[in-house]
Amino acid sequence: MANKAQAQRERLEALLEETRLYPPTQEFRKQANWNDAFVYERARKDVESFWAERAESLAWIKRWDKVLDWKPPAAKWFVGGKLNVTYNCVDRHAASTRRDKAAIIWEGEPGDSRVLTFGALEREVNRCANALKSLGVKKGDRVAVYMGMTPELPVTLLACAKIGAPHSVVFGGFSAESLRERINDAQAKVLVTADGAWRRGNVVLLKANADEALRGAPSVEKVIVLRRVGDKAPCAMQRPRDLWWHDLVDKAQDQCAPEAMDSEDVLYILYTSGTTGKPKGVVHTSAGYLLGTSVTHRAIFDVKESDVYWCTADIGWVTGHSYIVYGPLANGCTSLMYEGSLDYPDRGRFWQIVAKYGVNILYTAPTAIRTFMRWGTDWPNQHDLSSLRVLGTVGEPINPEAWMWYHKNIGRERCPIVDTWWQTETGMILISPLPGLTATKPGSATKPFPGIEAEVLDERGRPVGPGGGGYLVLTRPWPAMFRTIYGDPERYERQYWSRFPGKYFTGDGAKVDADGYFWLLGRVDDVMNVSGHRISTFEVESALVDHDAVAEAAVIGKTHEVKGQGIAAFVTLKEGVTASDKLKHELREHVARKIGALARPDDVFFTLELPKTRSAKIMRRLLRDIAEGQVLGDTTTLADPGVVAKLKTQYEEEGLVD
Ligand code: ATP
Ligand code: MG
Repeated sequence: MANKAQAQRERLEALLEETRLYPPTQEFRKQANWNDAFVYERARKDVESFWAERAESLAWIKRWDKVLDWKPPAAKWFVGGKLNVTYNCVDRHAASTRRDKAAIIWEGEPGDSRVLTFGALEREVNRCANALKSLGVKKGDRVAVYMGMTPELPVTLLACAKIGAPHSVVFGGFSAESLRERINDAQAKVLVTADGAWRRGNVVLLKANADEALRGAPSVEKVIVLRRVGDKAPCAMQRPRDLWWHDLVDKAQDQCAPEAMDSEDVLYILYTSGTTGKPKGVVHTSAGYLLGTSVTHRAIFDVKESDVYWCTADIGWVTGHSYIVYGPLANGCTSLMYEGSLDYPDRGRFWQIVAKYGVNILYTAPTAIRTFMRWGTDWPNQHDLSSLRVLGTVGEPINPEAWMWYHKNIGRERCPIVDTWWQTETGMILISPLPGLTATKPGSATKPFPGIEAEVLDERGRPVGPGGGGYLVLTRPWPAMFRTIYGDPERYERQYWSRFPGKYFTGDGAKVDADGYFWLLGRVDDVMNVSGHRISTFEVESALVDHDAVAEAAVIGKTHEVKGQGIAAFVTLKEGVTASDKLKHELREHVARKIGALARPDDVFFTLELPKTRSAKIMRRLLRDIAEGQVLGDTTTLADPGVVAKLKTQYEEEGLVD
């Protein structure tokens, strides 16, 4: 019996056993911004000095009195300090030799593009800031933003930060209902939107959605509307509430003094993706956030003065806030933003953009990489990718197979890959390789950033040894951490700080290997319990994606009379592969071979699409509802609610619901 348990444990421990190791080349290491391994040790010994030293490179209006005031779960960083985030991101560069350097390169969808230098960005931000002031927006007032990926979006955020008005960006793909909910939660005074946004040659009617949302959102007094698509999206302007951007902002004065903000004043509110349930209004403050995002950006992406850096996220998500806008601009870096999608006008679009601008650093998501894998290597091979130097990923665990594909076909085995783990709540990347120091392993986010301490705990809060899986927690505060949930401080305490008192509960499962590397296993809810064994959905998915026929897979645990939970797999196939019972059988055996018989899926279900959030994460909770034959939970954050409804019908037709 003991032997059997031991054998099973060993088999499970072999999960994700990854022996491939990719150390930085000598050449890369030598030139890296951070190449002294001592940095980890230093930060561990005196974390406050570590951050304080780096804070010296920000521009302060008044220096701080105290680095950290930590009364769990309340943290205050750089207590007593005053600064302005926009001054740090824009004005100080505009006043330096960077004045004529590109701050934002914008690649629009229907052939449009634009470059904003730091000098031009400063003027445009000031105009927008003055326009907001003219509408009565004052320090502390919330401004809701519902726009597509045009330069006016970061301009609006920086304008809000300049005058101390917290912004609340609502992703342009959200419905009127989602927008209304978020406006009401934040009690926004002004809404900045656009007539419409381009989406693969079609128009998304933003202003029409906004009008509908505002019918139930009385806090909004004024609406600024950017004309982006023109005739394609006629808008009913409601006077005197609605004002055109080109009437108001373009005509405003281009000088505006920065508001002196306390380190702890609110910079913005941002709602989480809603993958696990009702979105939460995450609150970020000024100094610590600016420091955390800029330091990690410089260290992890190894950004150089002349680099073109491209983060492909939407500014509607935290990745866009921290790593398109605030982090890169604080570092005086050229940040590229792209309005369109992966495959418009064709499947080579990303690679064409890389070649067009000579992109040096590319930061994207595993879901995009898996899509590229499905489309094959002909697309990237048609373009010159030799400018690339560092590749990044974020958003979900990356399957080792996808990592290898990225490494070989995009990085041409030359570029380090930084797999960055973090959350809306953490504000900044917390677990990631440092490309000049860390030997990477495909599928592992490697180690906590210097100054960050993470642990993996069991149910009772005891550290789990190497190889064991458990709950990922953070045991120390960090500068960019969120400070509360807007309007719900009780939820802040309960959801994040009560499960393991005094420690931050991430909600993610993880495993640490013998080398101290972290392997993210997905959300705690996504860990299955099969005959008493904890198996992560991600591990089974990775085994499936490892099979030649499979493009993408989503795995869930479903109630099983004998085993407690059985494993159900939803699989999309690569182009040209035909679904068959034989293939189902083969996939089940493939997983059993890779992981062990315990992990063999009970059902495999082929589908053309998987339900995803608008930030492109697989929504397993809805698949669980389908497999359990239950009513579907909240679908408002889905990219396409049709996908899940169709899937439910098909699943029931195949008689898979018990
Ligand atoms: P909600 O909290 O509303 O359910 P969400 O967690 O999807 O939404 P985000 O804050 O955008 O919203 O996503 C953070 C989560 O994404 C992490 O908790 C983790 O599960 C996942 N994640 C992000 N980056 C990585 C990564 N590099 N490796 C593994 N997982 C990642
Ligand atoms: Mg979350």
